[in-house]
Amino acid sequence: MQRLITAFHRDDPGDWVADLDCGHGQHMRHRPPFQSRPWVTTSEGRDGMLGAELDCVRCEAMEWPASLVVHRRTPEFDETSVPAGLRRDHATKRGVWARIHVLEGALVYRVGAPIHRSATVAAGASAVVVPEVRHHVEIDGKVRFLIEFFGKGA
Ligand SMILES: [Zn+2]
Repeated sequence: MQRLITAFHRDDPGDWVADLDCGHGQHMRHRPPFQSRPWVTTSEGRDGMLGAELDCVRCEAMEWPASLVVHRRTPEFDETSVPAGLRRDHATKRGVWARIHVLEGALVYRVGAPIHRSATVAAGASAVVVPEVRHHVEIDGKVRFLIEFFGKGA
């Protein structure tokens, strides 16, 4: 799915990496003739790419980015106290990841486009919520769960 370039940094071998608003990075190598990105070698070129979109396959794979920190944790919900909004399609904001931790019982977690996945999440397991991807939970029976929201560190 499309993500915005927010910054660039160099990795250990010195290759440029685009930092995306989802928290993932993507190598932007200039190695002609196979990878031609002369713009990445100058600060003007890199600045010109800030805000551009890149396809992030790691988001579609629901891969948890490195170095996220917890920003907020909901109270525990059960089958009677689950907010209605969680049972309808909704999405977190840009750059906001979440984990649904099931403490007891089970729920069904359904993820919409472009990921299209469903899973039963049982006690002791957690589900990954990808930024800006619509999803909802289905609850049919006893459950106890909470949600943690993550983003970049300070
Ligand atoms: Zn991503």
